[in-house]
Amino acid sequence: MVIVVRHSARREDVAALTAFLTAQGVSVTPVPGERSTLLAVVGDTSRLDDDRVAGFAAVEAVRRITEPLPLAGRGAHPADSVVEVGGVPVGAGHFALIAGPCSVESREQLLPLAASLRAAGAQLLRGGAYKPRTSPYHFQGLGEEGLALLREARAATGLPIVTEIVDPRQLPLFEDVDLIQVGARNMQNFELLKELGRIDTPVLLKRGPSATLKELLLAAEYILSGGNGRVILCERGVRSFDTATRYLLDLSAVAVLHERTHLPVIVDPSHAAGAARYVPSLSLAAVAAGADGLMLEVHPDPAAALSDGAQALLPADFAALAKQIKALRAALTESGD
Ligand code: PEP
Ligand code: MN
Repeated sequence: MVIVVRHSARREDVAALTAFLTAQGVSVTPVPGERSTLLAVVGDTSRLDDDRVAGFAAVEAVRRITEPLPLAGRGAHPADSVVEVGGVPVGAGHFALIAGPCSVESREQLLPLAASLRAAGAQLLRGGAYKPRTSPYHFQGLGEEGLALLREARAATGLPIVTEIVDPRQLPLFEDVDLIQVGARNMQNFELLKELGRIDTPVLLKRGPSATLKELLLAAEYILSGGNGRVILCERGVRSFDTATRYLLDLSAVAVLHERTHLPVIVDPSHAAGAARYVPSLSLAAVAAGADGLMLEVHPDPAAALSDGAQALLPADFAALAKQIKALRAALTESGD
């Protein structure tokens, strides 16, 4: 961290700042310049609160050189991480195809669908049992019954299951879930993140629609710093000025996150697009951008879906897309040889 000292700063203001910084366990070296003095702050600066530092009378500006990401950042962990989900590796070249309905609706909906997804190449089955809906009057999910149906589908197909938690009090119900999803709306539910840090189930952390990548990485840091190193990040579209799609799929997030973190990064084109017809091209673009996996919503009868029907692929369309994804990945690997 570099601190620019105000021209007008009094000696005692600089001393107070230096005392504060050294008490935080970092070392401070003044670098006098022609016009102003800089303080070079080195050590573990992740615990320093930039806003507190900026509040000192002597401070003109605060600049971070490294991100405060001791666990999520590449600094401590240069190699890509692999997160195992029910025996399926994700990250560091292991690509995971996650598919399933937005919401678990019934046995009749889920079980045949899970079998067809598996046959088409899905490696993990998704489905919401607890749904964070914008309106309190819309379908909120089947709750425990939905979780039981997911377990049944896992037993029938062998596919590990991915489902969203919306409240830390639900954790006992999620003990045998293979990958616990934190939805976009809960990305900064810090108490939930802390609880997920205390267990060792893998967590799929979705980017909030208005969250910066730094905020996403700091949210991941909450889980990692609690002791749970199994975090997969998910780009799912951000808010934009343009309403042509539901959200704007930020594929630059894949490149930027891969540079800054060792954690696997997957993409959810379904929620970004909001319309099934855009999902195949966004999926292929995400694969080309280097995503470690995709999460796709699929429904046997999208028009009858209780949530997110407009963006759900039909099983046959998913199967066709899965083939294209395989071919694209093979082509990318060949061209890399
Ligand atoms: C979902 O995966 O069904 C979901 C609610 O996604 P998001 O949190 O990204 O809106
Ligand atoms: Mn959905």
